[in-house]
Amino acid sequence: MTAHYRFIAPRLDDPRLLGDRRYSMLIGGASVPALSGETITRESPAHPGHIVSTIPKGSRADAERAIAAARAAFDSGPWPRMTGAERSRIMYRIGESIEANIEELATIEALEVGKAISQARGEMGYSAELWRYAAGQARGLEGETYNDLGTNTLGLVLREPAGVVGIITPWNFPLLIGSERIPWAIGAGCTVVIKPSEFTSGSTIRMAELAREAGLPDGVLNVVTGYGADVGQVFAEHPDVDAVNFTGSQRVGRVIGSLAGQNIKRVGLELGGKGPQVVFSDADLDAAAAKISGGAFHCSGQACIAGSRLIVADSIADKLLEKVEALAAKIVTGDPLNDASNVGALIHHAHFEKVAGYVEEGKADGATIYSGGTRLGEAGAFFAPTIFTGVKPEMSIARDEIFGPVLSTFRFSDPEEAIALANDTPFGLSACVWTNNLSTGLQAIRRIKAGRTWINGMGDGTPQMPIGGYKQSGIGRELGRHGFDEYSELKNIHVTLTR
Ligand code: NDP
Repeated sequence: MTAHYRFIAPRLDDPRLLGDRRYSMLIGGASVPALSGETITRESPAHPGHIVSTIPKGSRADAERAIAAARAAFDSGPWPRMTGAERSRIMYRIGESIEANIEELATIEALEVGKAISQARGEMGYSAELWRYAAGQARGLEGETYNDLGTNTLGLVLREPAGVVGIITPWNFPLLIGSERIPWAIGAGCTVVIKPSEFTSGSTIRMAELAREAGLPDGVLNVVTGYGADVGQVFAEHPDVDAVNFTGSQRVGRVIGSLAGQNIKRVGLELGGKGPQVVFSDADLDAAAAKISGGAFHCSGQACIAGSRLIVADSIADKLLEKVEALAAKIVTGDPLNDASNVGALIHHAHFEKVAGYVEEGKADGATIYSGGTRLGEAGAFFAPTIFTGVKPEMSIARDEIFGPVLSTFRFSDPEEAIALANDTPFGLSACVWTNNLSTGLQAIRRIKAGRTWINGMGDGTPQMPIGGYKQSGIGRELGRHGFDEYSELKNIHVTLTR
């Protein structure tokens, strides 16, 4: 089956596209260039040939001075010594400031990431929510007391900030992923050095500038830009960084994890997934189809929680696929700056080639293209929503995180087979189950190894609930009350009482 995809060609005379935005790093409260003076330029993936931003090309020396600023702010600055209420007020103001600047931040991400601006606006709004939620929690972080240790002993468990936190974020959701981590780290009383992806650093730098304006003391949030191996890796190696948090590929996650291990520091890893969307025969197919299409094709599939494997009961598979394809055909791909676009470009042309390569491999391995599988538009890294049927578990399109708009379909006749297929992956980040029987849904989801799950839904998130991966999708949890544990040390005090 083929679908006619809707495409909006990028407008090259859009005034928001014109003009290179030039950014500085933020170290110890000062906006600074790289010590070398070198820069990196970013071309819009949707508008080939158009430079949309220039950032400093930081080096190990820049990373070290940012770490020194964060260390000084932690060891002798006001932040860790403030009351929770004082920290909370500043954090809340940062959330308000993100909200007030949604349009600017969303435009930066539409240009640098290539994502649809309507989607980017939603993410900026959610990021503001994350800051406000963490601000609320940050004024009530508690320890424990033990009053049952005998008449002469009282036990106290103190929660203390872990120290300097190094955060490395990927290109797909720069401000959102930063906002899932920074407020929890600084809310726990830590100070932060962050390295965003060199493709998409603009919104993180602007967020740090907004935080400075909102009253965040100097050195609490430092941004160093540049390449991962030059800057981010230093966070995992440096003795003055107490905890490191990385989001990105498994390949780099292994490097960061082993460096953190060698240097005995706390580590949090979020390494993507191959999310199953399991549909039982009694499911509401219209509701399921809408979310399956969104789950697979949102942000062109460049999401760690993407539901890239559809596991559907044989008896309803044909009907469901027709519905998913009809919805995929309605997705408007194209100009990220156009309000009517639902989906923009892939992050860059090399990634486009990687996605196209997987599609070719799927065909060569014997899977069938049900729809899509092609470029959209003349130039720009736009790829059509693509559905494969006849996928076998050993194929690369079944196993690898493609990070593109590619949905691999499997059929099952026995629910046990569905659970086995869902768990047949080294990843364990997200999963969803569709059924009108809540017991079926809960029984299934309890057996699927994944940290972020839905029954009759896909993609929704709230700041209250922790997220993170099972298996090779990572280590640790972000968000909710548990999120503060990643950035806290617990100290116990045995107090001997005398009469
Ligand atoms: P990477 O894992 O290479 O990059 C993610 C971040 O890590 C970037 O900021 C990158 O900086 C940095 N980095 C790279 N090498 C090092 C290093 N040695 N030490 C410290 N930091 C480093 O992801 P890619 O951009 O290469 O994407 C490849 C694949 O990774 C995707 O196709 C997708 O499968 C997966 N991915 C998963 C994400 C998720 O949300 N879990 C997000 C992004 C990608 P720099 O770019 O400068 O190297």
